[in-house]
Amino acid sequence: MRTVVVTGGGAAGMIAAVFAARRGNRVILIEKNEKLGKKLYITGKGRCNLTNDCTPEEFLENVVSNAKFLSGAIRAFSPQNTQDFFEEIGLKLKTERGNRVFPLSEKASDVTKFLSKELEKEKVEIALSEKVEKIVYRNGCVSEVLTDKREIACDSVVICTGGLSYPATGSTGDGYLFARAAGHTIKEPKPALVGIETKENFARLQGLSLKNVALHAYLNGKSVFCETGEMLFTHFGISGPLVLSVSALVNRSAPEEVLFKLDLKPGLTEEQLYNRIERDFAEAKGKTVENGMVKLMPSRLIDFILARAADKNKRVSEISNAEKRKIVSVMKGFEIRMLRLRPIEEAVITAGGVNIKEVNPKSMESKLIQGLFFAGEVLDLDAFTGGFNLQIAFTTGYIAGNHA
Ligand SMILES: Cc1cc2nc3c(=O)[nH]c(=O)nc-3n(C[C@H](O)[C@H](O)[C@H](O)COP(=O)(O)OP(=O)(O)OC[C@H]3O[C@@H](n4cnc5c(N)ncnc54)[C@H](O)[C@@H]3O)c2cc1C
Repeated sequence: MRTVVVTGGGAAGMIAAVFAARRGNRVILIEKNEKLGKKLYITGKGRCNLTNDCTPEEFLENVVSNAKFLSGAIRAFSPQNTQDFFEEIGLKLKTERGNRVFPLSEKASDVTKFLSKELEKEKVEIALSEKVEKIVYRNGCVSEVLTDKREIACDSVVICTGGLSYPATGSTGDGYLFARAAGHTIKEPKPALVGIETKENFARLQGLSLKNVALHAYLNGKSVFCETGEMLFTHFGISGPLVLSVSALVNRSAPEEVLFKLDLKPGLTEEQLYNRIERDFAEAKGKTVENGMVKLMPSRLIDFILARAADKNKRVSEISNAEKRKIVSVMKGFEIRMLRLRPIEEAVITAGGVNIKEVNPKSMESKLIQGLFFAGEVLDLDAFTGGFNLQIAFTTGYIAGNHA
């Protein structure tokens, strides 16, 4: 019987262990925490958005880095396969807005609970509070795993140690060290799905959430993102769903290459907004322009718009047509400049990781060392929010487990 050691008991590791065991291997799953799935537990605000009910093509459109690497894998273990798998092991699911799939119980802990049951059923040896310290390679093959407690001779190792985000959950980048020791290159880890610090000081707007706004992002003047949704001002700059998404696209660019433009009224054309302002100003006769704009947007924002467009103390009647046009253009394209992304520890996802050019996409096996496999966030793969990142973990975990 072959021995497979799975390093890391997160989403990717648990799936890899189940499928490696179903192939008749002796499987040892080693997790340095005292329990499995510590990160899974906090996913989807404790509800775990475990996949997205979409086609493989739609899934690939939501992968930010190296979608092509996954194009075969996602057909081998698709979002539908993931849902079937979880239903088969007893976890009931439901689908919400944006095709996001959650446990019916709305408990992320249930995902780990049912996976743990399955691991037990498949007789996987689970070692908790045990840390893999080294993987020994001999003559181009995996030979043994050294932990802080023992040496394990094995035929294959699946590295599922995650990235560098939320290190308190156990993802501290150990897998990069094991991969480097095997000769692999690591694409520099970067934060993704994270808040953005801005050159503008938005501290006065802290906590202000804007719904139904459009965020545009430009890299060296070229449009790379335009989506309508929700964003949030914070003490450091901007955050919220739109900003998390855009962070994944600008995390390898110098701040001066990046420009955001916020459209506060995406539902109105410039002409319609101009007419709306004229109407509001007519109704606000005798008032200051600041007061004349209260129906148009949250009052805390008005200052920021007028600072770039007109004197806020002027009466609405004193505002020229050119100034009204300027207000329109600032409201439709409020420029925000990036200072830096928030640190990787705060990021939902780590972009970068084990170079996928050195990994076989059909098996997730290293092209450098026989018997060495990778799955999950440790690989240079990342996607937008919506259940796509866990799907990456499940798909690559399934493939690695089956081939290990
Ligand atoms: C707050 C938050 C919310 C999220 N919500 C969602 C969501 O709703 N939907 C979604 O798709 N994605 C979500 N994600 C992303 C998703 O959680 C990750 O992409 C996914 O968990 C990665 O799985 P993984 O198994 O590769 O790594 P991890 O889950 O990080 O697991 C790695 C495991 O390896 C263990 N380990 C590390 N080194 C060693 C070692 N040397 N020895 C032994 N064990 C080791 C760690 O302790 C850890 O348990 C969220 C992430 C965060 C931070």
